[in-house]
Amino acid sequence: MIVMKEKPILEKIMNTEEVFWENPHYKSFNEGIKKIHLTEKDVKEAGLRLKRFAPYLKKVFPETRKDNGMIESPLIKIPHMKKAIEKRYNISINHQLLLKCDHKLAISGSIKARGGIYEVLKHAEELAISHKLLEKNADYSILDSEKFKNFYSQYKIAVGSTGNLGLSIGIMSAKLGFKVYVHMSSDAKKWKKDLLRQKGVTVIEYDADYSEAVKEGRKQAKSDPFMYFIDDENSNDLFLGYAVSAYRLKEQLNDLGFKIDQQNPLYVYLPCGVGGGPGGVTFGLKLLFKDHVKCYFAEPTHSPCMLLGLLTGLHQKVCVQDFGLDNQTVADGLAVGRPSGFVGKTLNHLISGVYTISDDNLLILLKELANTENIKLEPSALASLYGVTKHQQRGVHLAWATGDGMVPDDIMSSYF
Ligand SMILES: *Cc1c(COP(=O)(O)O)cnc(C)c1O
Repeated sequence: MIVMKEKPILEKIMNTEEVFWENPHYKSFNEGIKKIHLTEKDVKEAGLRLKRFAPYLKKVFPETRKDNGMIESPLIKIPHMKKAIEKRYNISINHQLLLKCDHKLAISGSIKARGGIYEVLKHAEELAISHKLLEKNADYSILDSEKFKNFYSQYKIAVGSTGNLGLSIGIMSAKLGFKVYVHMSSDAKKWKKDLLRQKGVTVIEYDADYSEAVKEGRKQAKSDPFMYFIDDENSNDLFLGYAVSAYRLKEQLNDLGFKIDQQNPLYVYLPCGVGGGPGGVTFGLKLLFKDHVKCYFAEPTHSPCMLLGLLTGLHQKVCVQDFGLDNQTVADGLAVGRPSGFVGKTLNHLISGVYTISDDNLLILLKELANTENIKLEPSALASLYGVTKHQQRGVHLAWATGDGMVPDDIMSSYF
């Protein structure tokens, strides 16, 4: 079933060696976009929905006030880190290097504050509108009231998570008044579970990996008509919430004076777990920059699920354990053994490639970034910066720092 020419790279993957895979199914934007059922209109609608909620978010999360209730992160240059990478990996980087700081996102400090919060808000809006409690042209800050909290308290939201998705969905849902159930895989860090419990979220722990936690959550929700399950393996809404970031990024690139075109393409490196986050961002960026953007996904050597799904063409039908890998990594946010089939199939022709990174290199980069730029990230997020060691093409190279602005100091020291 697996094409023979992929055999050498498969052997390396199975030996947990680092690999760099250029996607042979990659196509031009006009070809690759053809069979995708989601459109630019869907992304724009998601952007408008977030705008409608901005007055509410501004009211209940004071940290969003400075951005007027928009949940957005800075885009910055990291010249000192660039030098450190050159030295450490003995390369010379002749292009621009930018860091997208999603670890600074308000409310939950990771890329999950995009998709996760968006899907909760969409569900809340639909419920309120269908019960004639809300109109789209209202000032949504009225949601911050006993009336709405009582209304939402009849409903439940559930999700499976390695930690960060649970944080974003748990915090947002609890704020609105929903009852929340977060099914956590064994990778989930204790401090993330503690924080959620503090906020009144029911945390259910599994001694199993992420796919199992999702499965259990899905099962629980099926038997309860008042429970809405946010399905990280299949959700269009999560995907669209992530995609909105592209439109805002374009403005930020403009503000920094970068013009993206054929001579000056954009390379984007995205840490990948199940695929929704990097997939949604890629979709948005492709709609905007078409063939002038190339998106690469980054996975730990022990959890290369999207790579295996794309490479074999079997998507969600394969998991890393099928290839003898243990799915154990310091990058808890990426510890996913089975990829989203929805993302893999949707973006089969638009993802430029996938590379893997060892835990050692994740921690080396974590330390370098803290030392050179005083930016502290969780290990998962560093997978993006490794991308710049893979490519020396002219253009703007952007590493997406996906989390986490909330790691407690003692945990950070242990990574050091
Ligand atoms: C979840 C997560 C990702 C990847 O997102 P997926 O949707 O799981 O692919 C990357 N980095 C961090 C820090 C995350 O929490």
